[in-house]
Amino acid sequence: MNNKLYGNLIFELSRPGRKGYSLPAADFGHSSSELPSQLLRDSKLELPECDELTVVRHYTNLSHNNFGVNDGFYPLGSCTMKYNPVINEELASLPAFTRLHPHTPAKLCQHALRLCYELQAALSELTGMSAFTLNPCAGAHGELTGLMVIRAWHEHRGESSRTKVIIPDSAHGTNPASAAVCGLTVVEVKSLPDGTVDVQDLRRIVSQQGHEVAAMMMTNPNTLGIFEHAIPEITDIVHSCGALMYYDGANLNPMLGSCRPGDMGFDVMHINLHKTFSTPHGGGGPGSGPVGVRRGLEQHLPMPRVTAKVDNGATIYELQTHDNSEMTLGTVGTFLGNFNVLVKAYAYIRSLGRENIKMVGPLATLTANYVKESLKDVYELPIQGLCKHEFVFDGLKDKSSGVTTMDVAKRLLDFGYHAPTIYFPLLFHESLMVEPTENESKETLDGFIGTMRKIADEAKTNPDIVKTAPHTTPIGRVDDVLAAKQPVLTYSSWATQSARLSSQ
Ligand SMILES: *Cc1c(COP(=O)(O)O)cnc(C)c1O
Repeated sequence: MNNKLYGNLIFELSRPGRKGYSLPAADFGHSSSELPSQLLRDSKLELPECDELTVVRHYTNLSHNNFGVNDGFYPLGSCTMKYNPVINEELASLPAFTRLHPHTPAKLCQHALRLCYELQAALSELTGMSAFTLNPCAGAHGELTGLMVIRAWHEHRGESSRTKVIIPDSAHGTNPASAAVCGLTVVEVKSLPDGTVDVQDLRRIVSQQGHEVAAMMMTNPNTLGIFEHAIPEITDIVHSCGALMYYDGANLNPMLGSCRPGDMGFDVMHINLHKTFSTPHGGGGPGSGPVGVRRGLEQHLPMPRVTAKVDNGATIYELQTHDNSEMTLGTVGTFLGNFNVLVKAYAYIRSLGRENIKMVGPLATLTANYVKESLKDVYELPIQGLCKHEFVFDGLKDKSSGVTTMDVAKRLLDFGYHAPTIYFPLLFHESLMVEPTENESKETLDGFIGTMRKIADEAKTNPDIVKTAPHTTPIGRVDDVLAAKQPVLTYSSWATQSARLSSQ
């Protein structure tokens, strides 16, 4: 891909008067417009003026710079970019769904409400929770909603002084952020050298501050891909001080069909539908973070909620928008959240069915352990033993050439791979986190293992090629330091920028 094409904006390709269409002149003028005159613009709309092929080629070339699960292996730990069957996209694009107006009366959109209702029921069955809301639009949004439910629960019991949330030091950054947005204070609990929660440290915190604790947030398996075996003990400790257990469901993948957060004693949880239930996501969306609660907390869930009743033998689905008990925490988003993501999750769950969905967790666990064991002689594995769906290396085993995790991640791009998650979790200096997901073939995994070994080899024999990677992408290694010291905050053309950079 040449940089000139890549760098051009459609506005730079514009030539005055050039057109890609010819339409008959409009036969109505400004005067016939029904808009109030003060709302009409008085200058010409500045749109790029291009011929048709220039437009088509511009956007086609830009689309080639994308990398998605359909282009290659995407081992992005923690973010779970799994296979997204194209049929799910097709179902989500059915006009019966895409042409629905959010205010369509319930009796005219029974199909969409039924889908939501059955999705809620499927999520309850898969997690052991009693009820779900589909409104939150992402994992972090689900965390905030879940914590608001927990606050509302305590407040209705006259315990509004519970304002602390216990969070392990290995947690995803959104956990403390959501707690802060919800007006709660974070108390950090330490991890043991094996990566799991330090139960002694938890006991100490609870004995000193238990009466102020609203909840403990946990991810299981945690962000290191390690299963927290002490969960029964942890939930006992937290419940005994009157606090609730929150489950961050971003890592639900390896547990699907094998075990359920509800059975482990969790009270409130969210699910990242876009991770576990197959929606390709990136650059911030699209997502969906349904929140589930155990029996006794349903009344605090946000509105609207999808409910069902049987009338004359027929099931009627309804959109409940208010609750007379005034226990609900109100609205957290518009309508039913990201409906298109809900359709894909529903299709994924229904097409696998009760039997096949049980394979998801074990296969995700098998692929992760296979990749980890095949690479641990050349990459530093700080936590030994079985992992679940993902694992973390701490850079190369041999660090003498100065090749970092960043260099390895950049070099992978040259070989057509998406980079793994790097420098997260923060527990190690050179974290490199791999999650292969359940759908990859042995050949794909072997290809990735071979490439990772080749890069480890290059780090010894030709470290410069790794340190200066990537070499085959439209934009090479960017200068982080220059970008921080002299940030370019307004747009200038590619030519101007190149001239500026080369003059330095
Ligand atoms: C991705 C992730 C989140 C946040 O979810 P978003 O949908 O990105 O807001 C929270 N916790 C963990 C462990 C995650 O991996």
